[in-house]
Amino acid sequence: MIIGVPKEIKNHEYRIGLTPAGVKELIVNGHEVIVENNGGAAIGFDNEQYIAAGAKIIDTAAEIFATADMIIKVKEPQPNECKMLRPGQVLFTYLHLAPDPKQTELLVASGATCIAYETVTSATGGLPLLAPMSEVAGRMSIQAGAHALEKAQGGLGALLGGVPGVAPAKVLIVGGGVVGTQAARMAVGMGADVTILDRSLPRLRQLDTEFDGRLKTVYSTADAMDQLIVDADLVIGAVLIPGAAAPKLVTKEHIKMMKKGSVIVDVAIDQGGCFETSKATTHQDPTYVVDDVVHYCVANMPGGVARTSTLALTNATMPFAVTLANKGAKQAMLDDVHLLNGLNVLGGKITYKPVADVLGYEY
Ligand code: NAD
Repeated sequence: MIIGVPKEIKNHEYRIGLTPAGVKELIVNGHEVIVENNGGAAIGFDNEQYIAAGAKIIDTAAEIFATADMIIKVKEPQPNECKMLRPGQVLFTYLHLAPDPKQTELLVASGATCIAYETVTSATGGLPLLAPMSEVAGRMSIQAGAHALEKAQGGLGALLGGVPGVAPAKVLIVGGGVVGTQAARMAVGMGADVTILDRSLPRLRQLDTEFDGRLKTVYSTADAMDQLIVDADLVIGAVLIPGAAAPKLVTKEHIKMMKKGSVIVDVAIDQGGCFETSKATTHQDPTYVVDDVVHYCVANMPGGVARTSTLALTNATMPFAVTLANKGAKQAMLDDVHLLNGLNVLGGKITYKPVADVLGYEY
């Protein structure tokens, strides 16, 4: 099979669908890989590395779309990319179709086989191609929060871990899933005083065992929030109710109750955010202040560490990409229901029920 990797064209997107190591993996499996000129150059994967791995460098995206049997990307295809897809061609990337009727219409019109990273499932009930980006965002949230706590960034001027003789800062993590756990790992590692809220008792039990007394777990209620928010130096929003907007667990009144110069990092902003005062920000202008509380609400946090994110994402996508290439998309999906769950569009039809329902397509 010929696998094509175009350069990402979305604004400030520096990730790429395959690393040189990923290329090599497909080459040893007997496939051909074509990569767009300088597709990974911004994050240190230059043409020479791709060539050494066995790829052919192609000048234009148009040629890649015209030649490849399967396109591997990171972000959803932009309108001109959708228009280059053809019937039977496989597209393997993040799609996020439900809030995007325009892209959906173009993918339906293309006749291509579109498999979305975000709906591929695992035997344990997780979303294996979404998890790596949550891991990145979770770890990054503490880095971003610690930076924002510095005086020059508008913060209160507190060091997360304190120093001998000075108490550490208090970090409150709301939601103990993938993001929350990775945030906790970083915050505990930096010596902060960490409390994690979740409304799942089994999850709190796991966290309690995993961290063995190095953080406090609290069942998530409005009352717990009222009590904990007043003392927190840094609050991380990491809740998710699958398929729904994030619940506003931290209200405007809570923000007013917080210390002057304290910081909130709303990782759940891509689902609307779990703080009433959150609005999406960018890496160029990541923070703003409401009632003396610094707000960091970057909607695509992994994009800020595009190299790590590319490596993490392709570790997870690679086994699926190899299977799709080796067996062909149809057989690969017939053999693996979890990969089949990723199929959103096939030959002009929507094949993922939640998308069909939201956008009014036949299913
Ligand atoms: P997850 O499903 O692994 O974890 C969510 C957790 O929230 C679960 O443990 C759940 O029990 C808990 N929860 C639900 N309702 C709660 C409540 N009322 N109180 C406390 N906890 C509650 O999800 P995740 O992968 O950790 O993702 C968390 C959020 O981060 C999602 O919205 C995801 O889209 C977002 N995210 C954002 C970025 C970004 O760049 N901003 C990147 C990756 C993920």
